[in-house]
Amino acid sequence: MTVIIKTKEQIEKIREGGKILAEVLNKVAKKVAPGISTYELDKYAHDLIKEKGGIPAFLNYRPEGATSAFPASLCTSVNNEIVHGIPSKSRILKEGDIISLDLGLKYKGLFTDHAVTVAVGKISKKDQELLDKTKKALEIGIWAAKGGATVGDIGHAIESFVNRKYGIVRELAGHGVGVKIHEDPYVPNYGKAGKGQKLIPGMIIAIEPMLNIGKDNITVANDNWTIKTADGAKSAHFEHTILITEGDAEILTK
Ligand code: MG
Repeated sequence: MTVIIKTKEQIEKIREGGKILAEVLNKVAKKVAPGISTYELDKYAHDLIKEKGGIPAFLNYRPEGATSAFPASLCTSVNNEIVHGIPSKSRILKEGDIISLDLGLKYKGLFTDHAVTVAVGKISKKDQELLDKTKKALEIGIWAAKGGATVGDIGHAIESFVNRKYGIVRELAGHGVGVKIHEDPYVPNYGKAGKGQKLIPGMIIAIEPMLNIGKDNITVANDNWTIKTADGAKSAHFEHTILITEGDAEILTK
């Protein structure tokens, strides 16, 4: 495992990129409404990133082992889709849906990663609670990510907070980010306190809990990209890129 401690110069650039990414994703989230296609959201995200002088990090990204490159800038995962949903002109959002918007940015040669899940029009109380809980799980994870703590502390904090009231996706996790879009360490949303990689000031990681109304289990759709809940229940996903410091982590994507 190779953990990259970022230099002051890298941190400054990633901070700039993170701010841009947060602005862009916030604008895209505000566009979400019944009747819009996921393609339109992707195009909007792509255009905004270009306007800011950035590069969409997920477009044509091909992780190790993948059979194809991701064909869009934005991941749009609706309802029972957890992550990596492919935008499409035929996927029209409707009242009561929830959608995870996951966006990666390359700016001045460095990467940031950010995701939110938002309501499409009016949603059920149960779905709103899922969104609130997942957002809070991310906050709890960030709170645990203090200098000198470990990756296990983050996962343990999230898992304890969720307390089996929701499924936690286990096959996917947060990750180091910055020089590449996915770096070491691997940051699971469950774990044992005090275990795993130590968090060193200057590390930059993305924390990204994915919670399901049903069970933990996942399945991959026929497009070989979209990850869905195995039981068809709804799922939410929130993610921030953060800088590890001596004390509380600094959120870079806000
Ligand atoms: Mg990520």
